[in-house]
Amino acid sequence: MELVQEAPFRFRIERRPPMRVPGVVFASRDLIAEDQALQQVVNVATLPGIVEASYGMPDLHWGYGFPIGGVAATDVRAGGVVSPGGVGFDISCGVRLLAADLQREELAPRLTRLMDILDATIPRGAGPGGVWKLSGRAQLDELLRKGARYAVEQGHGVARDLERCEDQGAVADADPDQVGDRAIKRGLGQVGSLGSGNHFLEVQAVEQVYDEKVAAAFGLRLGQVCVMIHCGSRGLGHQICTDHVRVMDKAMRRYGISVPDRQLACAPVESPEGRAYLGAMAAAANYSRANRQLLAEATRRAFQKVTGARLDLVYDVSHNLAKLERHDGRLLCVHRKGATRALPPHHPDLPPDLAPFGQPVLIPGTMGTASYVLAGVPDGKAFHSTCHGAGRTQSRHQAARMVSGRELRDRLEAQGIAVRGSSLRGLSEEAPTAYKDIDAVIAASTGAGLCRAVARLVPLGVVKG
Ligand code: 5GP
Ligand code: MN
Ligand code: MN
Repeated sequence: MELVQEAPFRFRIERRPPMRVPGVVFASRDLIAEDQALQQVVNVATLPGIVEASYGMPDLHWGYGFPIGGVAATDVRAGGVVSPGGVGFDISCGVRLLAADLQREELAPRLTRLMDILDATIPRGAGPGGVWKLSGRAQLDELLRKGARYAVEQGHGVARDLERCEDQGAVADADPDQVGDRAIKRGLGQVGSLGSGNHFLEVQAVEQVYDEKVAAAFGLRLGQVCVMIHCGSRGLGHQICTDHVRVMDKAMRRYGISVPDRQLACAPVESPEGRAYLGAMAAAANYSRANRQLLAEATRRAFQKVTGARLDLVYDVSHNLAKLERHDGRLLCVHRKGATRALPPHHPDLPPDLAPFGQPVLIPGTMGTASYVLAGVPDGKAFHSTCHGAGRTQSRHQAARMVSGRELRDRLEAQGIAVRGSSLRGLSEEAPTAYKDIDAVIAASTGAGLCRAVARLVPLGVVKG
C-alpha cells in the first residue's frame, strides 16, 4: 500500500476509484505494519456518503470489515450509511476509570486481600452470570432505555457518577423493540459482568503526571490508586450486530449499494434498516453503560471492605459506537470502532466542571505495561477522535502459541502485578507482547494532535476476563 507522508504522524492513501475520499492514517512508520488493515481503510473509503477521509488511528489493526482503530463519518442528509461493522460486535465496549482516596503505599499491605475479593466477586468468562439478577424482560427493557441512569435509579451508584459518564450514562433513542429475542435471552443473565479475554478490571497507580492542572481537575494525583474497567455489551451486543448485519446484507441491493467486502454491510441512516440498527445499537450501548456502572459498584464494595477508601468516577467513555453528531453544520453519522471520542475544551457535551480542560480519554495498554489518561484538544482531528488502546499485533491464537498462561502469570507476578485470571488460556491470548508498544501509540496520538497526555498509570493487579 502506498503511503504519502504529510506530517510527522500523518500518512495519506490517495483516493482512487471506487474510493470516495482519501485514507488518512495517524501513526509513525514503525506502528504501521499491517497491509490488511490499510486495505480496510481503503474499503471503508468507498461507503456511500462518507465525508473527509477514512481515518486510521495509531493503534490501527485488522477487524471485521472496518479496521479496529478506524473512524468514518457519513453525511446523513446525503444518503450516508450506517454500518454495524463500523461499530463492531461489542457495541459500546468502553473504559471507565475510578480514582480512590488512597495512595499506593497505603494499599500495598492489603493488595492481596483486595484482589482475592475482586476475584471472588467480579463475574467473568464467556458464559452467563452477572452481579445484578433482573426480574425479566420488562426490567431489561428499562435498562436498555436508560442505561447507567437506570442502575443509579435502582440504588447502584450515586448521581455524580452520571455527570462523569458520556451522554450522562444513557444514549437517547434506544429502541428495545429492535432487539431480537435471542439477544434479549443472552442479555438477561449477564448484567454486571466483564466477559472474556481482552476485558478486565485493573487496580492501577498513577506513576506519572504530565499536566498537574488537568490531572487535578480529573481528580488524579501522583501515587494515587485507580481502577480501570474495560467491558462492553456482552452477548446482547454481539447478537444485535449479527442480526442486523444479516438484515443489511439483504437490504443493500435494494438501495443500490455495493461494497468491496460483505462485512461492510450497511444501509442509509435514514432507511428503516438504518434506523432499526441505530435503535438496537443504542439499546446495547445502554446495556454496556449499566454493565460498567454495576461493576464499579461491586468494586466500591470490595474497596470499602478492605481499605475503607472511596472511589470517584473520573470518566466513562465507549470506543465502539456510531453517533449522530453535528460537524461544521452537517449532521454526520460518526463511526468510531476501536477509537475514542475526545471532545475539545468548552464543548457543550462536557460536564461543566471539565469544560476548561477537555474530555478525559481513557486508554488501556496491557496488563504488563502502562495505561494512559489523555484529554481532548482544541483542534482535534477525525471528528474529535483518538486511539483506544495499544492495538494488537498478534491474533489471539498466535499469542497463545508464544507463551503459556502459567509462565505469563508467573512473569507478571514477579514484576509485582497480582494476576487473577479466569483461564490460563485466556491469559496467554492477552500477553503484553501481542500488542503494540503503548508508549509509541500515545506518542503518535499526541504528536498527531489528536489529544494530549495527562497521566500514565501502571498496573498493581488485574482481574482478567
Ligand atoms: P479492545 O477493545 O480492542 O478489545 O481492547 C482495547 C485495548 O485494551 C487493547 O488494544 C489493549 O491495548 C488493552 N488491553 C487488553 N487487555 C488489557 C489488560 O489486561 N490491561 C490493560 N491495562 N489493557 C489491556
Ligand atoms: Mn469489548
Ligand atoms: Mn474494547
